[in-house]
Amino acid sequence: MHLSLVVPCYNEVENVAAFQEAVISAFQGCGYGYEIVFVDDGSSDGTLQELHRLYSAQACPVSVVSFSRNFGKESGLYAGLEHARGDYISLIDADLQQRPELVRQMVEILDTQPEYDIVAAYQDKRGDGKVLTFFKEGFYRTINRLSSVKLRPDASDFRTFRRKVADSILSLPEYHRFSKGIFAWVGYNTCFIPYTACERAAGTTKWSFKKLFRYAIDGIIGFSTAPLRLATYTGLLAAVASLVYLVIVVLQKLIRGIDVPGYATIIVLILFLGGLQLFCLGLIGEYVGKIFEQSKQRPVYLAKEVLLHEDNAPPESSAGQ
Ligand code: UDP
Ligand code: MG
Repeated sequence: MHLSLVVPCYNEVENVAAFQEAVISAFQGCGYGYEIVFVDDGSSDGTLQELHRLYSAQACPVSVVSFSRNFGKESGLYAGLEHARGDYISLIDADLQQRPELVRQMVEILDTQPEYDIVAAYQDKRGDGKVLTFFKEGFYRTINRLSSVKLRPDASDFRTFRRKVADSILSLPEYHRFSKGIFAWVGYNTCFIPYTACERAAGTTKWSFKKLFRYAIDGIIGFSTAPLRLATYTGLLAAVASLVYLVIVVLQKLIRGIDVPGYATIIVLILFLGGLQLFCLGLIGEYVGKIFEQSKQRPVYLAKEVLLHEDNAPPESSAGQ
């Protein structure tokens, strides 16, 4: 098998068949074998039945992994990578925002340019609103400053890579998977090519602002410990400021004879320092929470069913780590 397309699907009943057709027409006459590994991420809208239909028809080699509930796109990608058997592996969404024709071009680049191990698509035009763009830029600036991995702001998960890259990604056992960070962390020579995201074929995006915000925080916490240092620095700053204030108070007493400082000052300082302490505690709590979850060693996903097409040998285990 030359190429595996890993496709996470969550409530994409109207898109999966159209996606497969688009793949078949894009790869007509390509001269190599390819498979589609659909991962049903606990959909509630009949996506799984539709995938069963595509699996039975086998219009092209199709495998289906279905989760016992919704585990999120990151877990879907992980499961797909585990079950993909191609020499090249491509991550692509089911909603046809990312065109399979571009995957064919990515494969050509990998075939003809051995110096590259990954071909990643970046969005040359983003259709996000002003507010979202502001937050996204802020996120990339923050994570690139705080973390040793450097993320390209416009790069997406839409990419094709060699098997060794897939093996490297699978070798990272973390429970909280932040793909953008993981891709940057594993390294390898990456060729970036531009693409314009099309409109969603059907359905709506699964990302609310709240989900994106949580994802951004998880990304920063997963790839940097710099926020923990914040407590040390602000603590030091507060200590120095209090010493300076002490000197001022003593001088005021000696020179002008004032010895009862303002009530307002005390209240403001108590509230400010109390707030700061709670903020730092919360920050530490975020990290402790992550350690707690990782220490339970729960699998990244649970599969209730794995249907593999004939050329795809059964894997050793149906659950991630
Ligand atoms: N997806 C998933 N699990 C989720 C959310 C999304 O597998 O919990 C899939 C979804 O079906 C799609 C891809 O991830 O194939 C990208 O999702 P979406 O199109 O909603 O994101 P956007 O393109 O808006 O960033
Ligand atoms: Mg989409």
